[in-house]
Amino acid sequence: MKTEKVAVITGSSSGIGLAVAEVLAEDGIHIAVHGLVPEEEGKNLAADLAEKHKIRTIFDDADLSDPHAVKGLIQRVHERLGRVDILVNNAGIQHTANLEEFPDDKWDAIIAINLSAVFHATKHAIPIMREQGWGRIVNIASVHGLVGSAQKSAYVAAKHGVVGLTKVTALENAEHRITANCICPGWVDTPLIQAQIEAHAKETGLTFEKAKLAIVTTKQPVPDMANPRQIGELVKYLCSDGASAISGAALPIDGAWTAQ
Ligand code: NAD
Repeated sequence: MKTEKVAVITGSSSGIGLAVAEVLAEDGIHIAVHGLVPEEEGKNLAADLAEKHKIRTIFDDADLSDPHAVKGLIQRVHERLGRVDILVNNAGIQHTANLEEFPDDKWDAIIAINLSAVFHATKHAIPIMREQGWGRIVNIASVHGLVGSAQKSAYVAAKHGVVGLTKVTALENAEHRITANCICPGWVDTPLIQAQIEAHAKETGLTFEKAKLAIVTTKQPVPDMANPRQIGELVKYLCSDGASAISGAALPIDGAWTAQ
């Protein structure tokens, strides 16, 4: 009988994480939904996924800025769903400002949530995966793990860190049938980037839709934002046995942004 798999996807109450959860759930994978949303909303999301795809789900609202909470998240998923086969480190936040004006607390929060939480979740998931003899770690980095952009010092530093951490994770676990890879999206249409579009619309007097197009085409030759499900489809492939030879990679889905 095929072993049933369990995936924990951080930040799956919204945007890319939610789309990843939906795509993996369609494949019959049991899902730990996670995010900083009111408990009722999170539980409803998990219950909807369970009912729709006939899988087991839980909801957890661990605050990833606290290393103990990250450890607790992995432990609870293991206890409540019985396994941890797939870890998608997806949760992330953003703040934009020039470096000399960048608030210290925003720097600390972005490094804690976008980088340190990836370390802590990976650290606690690996012993479980090794014992099971199989694992998949997919880190949702960004094009900003590969190139920089003005006003994003903390985000770019954290995402470059995630790309490096993923390489080390891949090397240390290569003999254990555990792969670790990064996906590096360009613009993806999610709540995370709404504030950036609104700020650009305000600055330029453009409508929201025109400001969105302007923001995308400043960086990306392909003039459309990616759809969150497109990220989910690559996560699904990386979690398949067909992708067992892909490890330590940073794979852009960026409309040719980093091809330039
Ligand atoms: P989003 O704002 O829609 O979702 C972020 C998720 O992270 C939410 O579920 C939120 O609850 C969770 N989260 C935030 N802070 C948390 C905390 N302290 N503890 C626990 N959970 C927390 O964002 P998104 O656009 O779906 O982004 C997901 C990932 O993709 C992020 O790592 C982001 O950097 C990356 N990314 C996004 C884009 C884009 O254009 N949207 C591009 C490249 C990379």
